[in-house]
Amino acid sequence: MGDPRGFIKYSRKNNPVRPVMQRIKDFDVMELDLDDADRREQAARCMNCGIPFCHHGIFYGGGRAVSGCPNDNLIPEWNDLVYRNRDRQAFERLTRTNYLPDMTGRVCPAPCEAACVQALNGPGITIRNNEKFIIEQAFKNGWIVDSGKPQHRTGKKIAVVGSGPAGIAAAWRLNQLGHSVTIFERDDRFGGLLMYGIPNMKLDKKIVERRFQALREVGIKLVNNTEVGKDISVAELRKAFDRIVLCTGSRKRVIWTCRVVNSAESTKPLIT
Ligand SMILES: Cc1cc2nc3c(=O)[nH]c(=O)nc-3n(C[C@H](O)[C@H](O)[C@H](O)COP(=O)(O)OP(=O)(O)OC[C@H]3O[C@@H](n4cnc5c(N)ncnc54)[C@H](O)[C@@H]3O)c2cc1C
Ligand code: SF4
Repeated sequence: MGDPRGFIKYSRKNNPVRPVMQRIKDFDVMELDLDDADRREQAARCMNCGIPFCHHGIFYGGGRAVSGCPNDNLIPEWNDLVYRNRDRQAFERLTRTNYLPDMTGRVCPAPCEAACVQALNGPGITIRNNEKFIIEQAFKNGWIVDSGKPQHRTGKKIAVVGSGPAGIAAAWRLNQLGHSVTIFERDDRFGGLLMYGIPNMKLDKKIVERRFQALREVGIKLVNNTEVGKDISVAELRKAFDRIVLCTGSRKRVIWTCRVVNSAESTKPLIT
């Protein structure tokens, strides 16, 4: 906890949004950013609570709702690092639990902020905006590609089916661990609902494309316009890859987000 009186000294300041008369003329992103000094003050409001209700995702209602961060992000730790200008460490801490803060920092409904202890007695911490600040610092300073490159290659080949957030996260982590990853996507553009569901006013498609550029730069192969089961058979994938990870999302009710399918000769999953 950088500033023990931060939560008394500073009030919550939300990111501003563009004026309505400007917004109605386009479909561009609504939200603007705070300046650097204001952002660090917002991070200083975090009390580093003994029991940080923000960071632990607790599911209720039969698993249909969550209080706190469903990713179990280490929120008080990176709030403190932002306050102390230690952005690289904040980025490393944030990406221990979340591979896509560039998306969640923009579109997550932030149940962490509702669960924040400060929200009991006023407005909670600006957690989602702090998260976006950290990942933007990382892109600006070129830390992303560095962090995604493996130290060695294992020689194992993985096919990831689907390029939505589940497919991106699985591919990123598996590549980081040294496996050679290829993503197959049936649509013309990559990103799943990040590209074809969430509107531009929340998530500019250049942000999605920037992430796929990073995927290419760390060595992940991207194959679009290819539906697994139609343009390429599962048998062909099983032959060419050691593992197949299904991240196909769902156009109906969600059955799974991401599932590992073992190759014919092995039963041990590569990610858990
Ligand atoms: C309109 C809309 C707005 C949303 N807004 C938000 C929001 O603001 N905040 C938020 O947190 N969530 C939001 N969501 C939900 C969020 O987008 C989804 O939860 C998330 O995208 C699911 O990720 P996924 O990777 O599991 O699936 P998807 O994003 O659906 O990706 C699956 C991908 O797999 C591909 N695929 C499927 N089958 C095959 C196959 N056989 N071969 C090759 N490729 C295949 C699909 O084409 C698709 O690209 C929104 C959803 C919609 C529809
Ligand atoms: S609950 Fe709020 S104040 Fe407490 S550690 Fe989490 S973000 Fe900081």
